[in-house]
Amino acid sequence: MLVMEHTWVLTQTPCTLPVLRYCRSCGRTVPFFDTSIRRHNANGKNIYRFAIYKCERDHTWNEKLAIYKSFTEHVEVPEQETMAENLALPVLPVLDYKEQGVQEVRITIESADARYRLDKLLASRLDGWSRSQIVQKIKDGRIRVNQREAKPSAILSASDVIVIVIG
Ligand SMILES: [Zn+2]
Repeated sequence: MLVMEHTWVLTQTPCTLPVLRYCRSCGRTVPFFDTSIRRHNANGKNIYRFAIYKCERDHTWNEKLAIYKSFTEHVEVPEQETMAENLALPVLPVLDYKEQGVQEVRITIESADARYRLDKLLASRLDGWSRSQIVQKIKDGRIRVNQREAKPSAILSASDVIVIVIG
């Protein structure tokens, strides 16, 4: 059986364009780069979500992204799932694979530092199938995670293996 193997690293897509702002430590306006690290701080009533930026000399600036109300002590912070469109992963030409006689594509998730839905991630990375075709294949068990049927909304984590039946 002809199997195409891929390994993917799922990261947050950092904002590639630096933000110009005054750095107190440098004493001048400098470009700040998104480290793609996100942090949560709580002050009792609210939970703040920050993006951590650094200038070229490694000084930190936290940009406030969102505020959540904390109604209970054990609050669920609604994590945004990350947009897959700009992720630096190859696009897999499934129709070409089929012509080449590939029967299966196996994708190993090496690490997952951000939340990606199975269906959305594949829709952004499989060229030749629409999102609804992909959802149908997941429901039909022709796209499986760790040898089991998965939900289209499944969130991927490190060491997951996605198997896609092509032929
Ligand atoms: Zn600085």
